[in-house]
Amino acid sequence: KHNPEGDAQFLEDESTKIFARKVADHYSARTNQTLEEREASPIIHLKKLNNWIKSVLIQLYARRGDAVLDLACGKGGDLIKWDKAKIGYYVGIDIADGSIEDCRTRYNGDADHHQRRKKFTFPARLICGDCYEVRLDRVLADDAPFDICSCQFAMHYSWSTEARARRALANVSALLRPGGTFIGTMPDANVIIKKLREAEGLAFGNSVYWIRFDEEFSDKKFKSSSPFGIKYKFHLEDAVDCPEWIVPFHLFKSLAEEYDLELVFVKNSHEFVHEYLKKPEYVELMRRLGALGDGNQDQSTLSPDEWEVAYLYLAFVLKKRGQPDRT
Ligand code: SAM
Repeated sequence: KHNPEGDAQFLEDESTKIFARKVADHYSARTNQTLEEREASPIIHLKKLNNWIKSVLIQLYARRGDAVLDLACGKGGDLIKWDKAKIGYYVGIDIADGSIEDCRTRYNGDADHHQRRKKFTFPARLICGDCYEVRLDRVLADDAPFDICSCQFAMHYSWSTEARARRALANVSALLRPGGTFIGTMPDANVIIKKLREAEGLAFGNSVYWIRFDEEFSDKKFKSSSPFGIKYKFHLEDAVDCPEWIVPFHLFKSLAEEYDLELVFVKNSHEFVHEYLKKPEYVELMRRLGALGDGNQDQSTLSPDEWEVAYLYLAFVLKKRGQPDRT
């Protein structure tokens, strides 16, 4: 919004940038793990469960030959999933230069730390940039339109200001073809706010994570203040330690509609697991990924604390309005 007091606007922009840098530096500094280190992680089953959720979303919506835009692609942890879906083209963007370098290494198959594998069958373009600041339709004018846009565990980093949240959705909308699909995962604000209200102070968590809200939210009420910039610090053992922002989903949904993106579904991760574990092919996939033990109780190999972290997230699917121009 226009702010007549230019200085205040400047300060807000500066602090927004500083926080975006904090997030980028945090992810950039995270080095690749060896297979042994990964298996020893206290949240290994949660990581496998999250990979399963992303794989299911990809299998549900990707079609052979699709052009894919992976916003906040990180180290390219989903490249193999997209390869299995036989996509035709991939563009990955992330703000963390270290992660984009790891993604490039993984794509080139130089030193895949998890398994040696054949080259990917699709061409890819990997870019370091801020997806919530830059007008990507200009950067990707020659690559668009995309059939699918994916933003996994990262959309909430756009909710620090209204301008960034809008830029994120405008980018997705401008780059998707009519009828194209936007899939993603992000924290479930309803769960986080409920836990905050049940907590004694401004922090809560368990043995693998904690969340701490800033003092300014000590009244635990968000209704009167702006729905953007509700910041908390998130710590997840062996994974995350940086500022994040609450995304009230009903507002995300209505803001997305302004950009011609209509909700197909939203499900908390627990609900998602229960629903898709009814399908044998996804039970088998879960077993292959190693997130599930021999019985078919969904959380059989997750610790209760990891299962509680899974509850902090949701999966969503949106569709770009308009007639698909391909069958
Ligand atoms: N999507 C990947 C995955 O599922 O494995 C990475 C998820 S990681 C939890 C969050 C990612 O969001 C990090 O790689 C981080 O650098 C990226 N990110 C955060 N803010 C961003 C921004 N403004 N623009 C682009 N990427 C961003």
